Order: sequence, then C-alpha cells, then structure tokens
Amino acid sequence: MTIIEVKQLTKVFGHDAGRAIPLLEQGMSKEKIAQELKLTVGVNKAEFSIEEGEIFVIMGLSGSGKSTLVRLLNRLIEPTGGQVLFKGKDVVKMNPEELRQFRRKNIGMVFQKFALFPHRTVLENAEYGLEVQGVDKKKRTERAMEALHLVGLKGWENHRPDQLSGGMQQRVGLARGLANDPDILLMDEAFSALDPLIRKDMQQELLELQSRVKKTIVFITHDLDEALRIGDRIALMKDGVIVQIGTPEEILIQPANKYVERFVEDVD
Ligand code: ADP
Ligand code: MG
Repeated sequence: MTIIEVKQLTKVFGHDAGRAIPLLEQGMSKEKIAQELKLTVGVNKAEFSIEEGEIFVIMGLSGSGKSTLVRLLNRLIEPTGGQVLFKGKDVVKMNPEELRQFRRKNIGMVFQKFALFPHRTVLENAEYGLEVQGVDKKKRTERAMEALHLVGLKGWENHRPDQLSGGMQQRVGLARGLANDPDILLMDEAFSALDPLIRKDMQQELLELQSRVKKTIVFITHDLDEALRIGDRIALMKDGVIVQIGTPEEILIQPANKYVERFVEDVD
C-alpha cells in the first residue's frame, strides 16, 4: 500500500520564489534562473510514491537536493509547488494544528550529528521529541525505554552520551526517532559521520530493526554502497531532479542514462 505520494513537488529558494515556477514549466534552466532571478532551485518536480514498510533511499552527491526533498515531506521546508499525499491527505494543505499532529504521530526524524544533548542522559535524550510534544513524563519514559530497548541500549539509560561510542550515540538518535512510534522514519545522512566499520554494523542493525518493526524508512545517503545495501528502492538525484527510481538491481543493471551509468560504474 502506498503511504506517501509525491506529485510535482518543487522548492525554489529566495525572495519571491514563486516567480520561478512558470519559467521552470517553460524549460528555463536552473542556472539561468539562479543567474537572472537570484533564486536557487533546490528540488524540481519530484514525483514518486513510497510503499508502506519499504526502505526508500534518496541518493545523490552533495548539493543534489536530498535534504531539501526529505524536509519537504513534513514541511520543515515549505514547498513552492506540488503535493505530498500521506495516505491520501495532502500535507501541503494541512493547517498548523493538522501539521503538528501529523509530525507528532506519523513522522520520526534521525539526523547525522545525532543532535544529542551532552548534559542529558541517554533516556532524557531519547525522550526529547516526546517532551517537546508535551507528552507526560510517565508516558514518555515508557515509550523512550521501549525505543532504547529496540535499538539494543537497554541498561544504558542513565549514561551520558560521551560515555557511549559513536555507533551507540547514533542508536540513541535512532531511539529518539522511534520513540513516538511513527509510521515513517526520515533519516538524513544518519550514518555518514560514523567510522566505516561501525557504519556497516549500523546498516545491518537498521535492516534487522526494520524486519522487526516494519516501519517505512526514507533514508538519505550520498554513499552508493550504503544505498545498495539497505534500499528496497533507490531514487538517484542530480541537480534537484530525480534521474532514476528503481530497485538496487535495476539501478545497477538498467541505468536510465549516462549519469546513472557513471554513478554506478565502480561497483563490482
Ligand atoms: P543535499 O542534501 O543533497 O546535499 P540540499 O538539499 O541541502 O542538498 O541542497 C540542494 C540545493 O538547494 C543546493 O544547491 C543548495 O545550495 C540549495 N539550498 C539548500 N538550502 C538552501 C537555502 N536555505 N537557501 C538557498 N539555497 C538552498
Ligand atoms: Mg543534505
């Protein structure tokens, strides 16, 4: 079943960004728009569906628009145009209260730098999202403990982040993202700051976790190996546009164009 359907989603940065839309429609290049209108096209006409329970990877070089795209899904960045349908309901049209509910109930986020508070315990860090949402202490402790258990950090609740290894700190970040039991977990370069070996462990752990909790995961990475290892499907971005969406096999065996071909050519 489709959980997210994205239609014609565009984000242009800059004052009076809407001016860029008709010009993009007419085929004006992003370089020209940047030059003449002093506007940056972060994402243009992204169109895709995410199925419930899959790991959907957004891959691309730095600056290709991955973070912009994933933040558009829950309107941490406001779209300039297009739709984001969550189970058929347009997130772009939600009023502030509906949006708050949507983020609280349906979305969890995990970031690259873990964004942990050094002076708080592991448990307090895992609870943080729930705290912001105003969940009462008893309930948020219960849920955060459950999430810490899920990521294998039972027994570490009262430690501080600096007493944990990098991989464990990232698991605290993961627990925080899972604490509200969201339908969708958004992970933006979540493993990119980890050492290569720890990173591989985390990829494996995420796959195992996924098979247990069956969340829908939108996973951003600039790393092809990581994308191939964990993605059910991969969307490859270039200059704010998705150039191909496919399973790892499809991306490797049937690259849609020269760019994808070059992107994957070093894989054996
Ligand atoms: P990625 O996550 O793939 O590295 P981003 O989504 O961060 O890429 O950026 C995509 C494009 O959007 C880049 O060209 C970047 O310069 C531009 N961009 C991102 N955020 C802003 C902003 N706040 N203002 C202007 N341009 C931005
Ligand atoms: Mg990014």
